[in-house]
Amino acid sequence: MSSEQSYPKANALNLSKQDVFKKAEQIAMELGYSIAGDLSTIVTKLGGSIEYVNLEKWYKTQDASIVVHAPDNFQIYISNFTGFLRNRFSIAHELGHYFLHSNRGEKQIQAARSGSDKCEWEANWFAAAFLMPNDKFKEIHKKYSGDMDFVAAHFLVSRKAADVRYQSIN
Ligand SMILES: [Zn+2]
Repeated sequence: MSSEQSYPKANALNLSKQDVFKKAEQIAMELGYSIAGDLSTIVTKLGGSIEYVNLEKWYKTQDASIVVHAPDNFQIYISNFTGFLRNRFSIAHELGHYFLHSNRGEKQIQAARSGSDKCEWEANWFAAAFLMPNDKFKEIHKKYSGDMDFVAAHFLVSRKAADVRYQSIN
C-alpha cells in the first residue's frame, strides 16, 4: 500500500455476537481451517498477504491493520515484535474485517488497529469463534478438566483469548 492510498473505514454490520460466531465457524469450515492450523496459508489461499512491519511502520499504519483492495486482494499488517499467539489472533481478527466488513472484498475498506467501536468487536468475535469453534471448545474444555492453560495451548491462542471465549460460551 502506498501511503497516499486510502479507503473508507470499515463499518460495523451490527450483527449479534451469536450471528458473528456462526458466520466465523461456517467460514473456518469452508476454508478448511483445522484447529491450531496455520493461518498464513489461509490468507495466501484467499489471495491476501501479510506484511510483518517494524515499530516505525507499525506506528504509521495505525489506521490500516488491513487494507482490502478487491476480492482476493488484501493486505494485512502485523507487527514484527509481538508474539506468535497474539499474531494468530490478530490475523484471524483481520480476516473478520475481510469477510464481514468488506464482504469478501466487495467493498474497498481499511480498518484501524485499535478502538472499541462495534466494528472491532465484530472482528474480535469472528476471530474467537474462527480459532475456537463452540462444540470443539466444549469438548476440549472437558478433556482437560477445565484447565484453561491446556485449552489455550490446544487452540494455539493466548490464555486471555481462551478465557474470553469460555465466558462467551458459558
Ligand atoms: Zn480491527
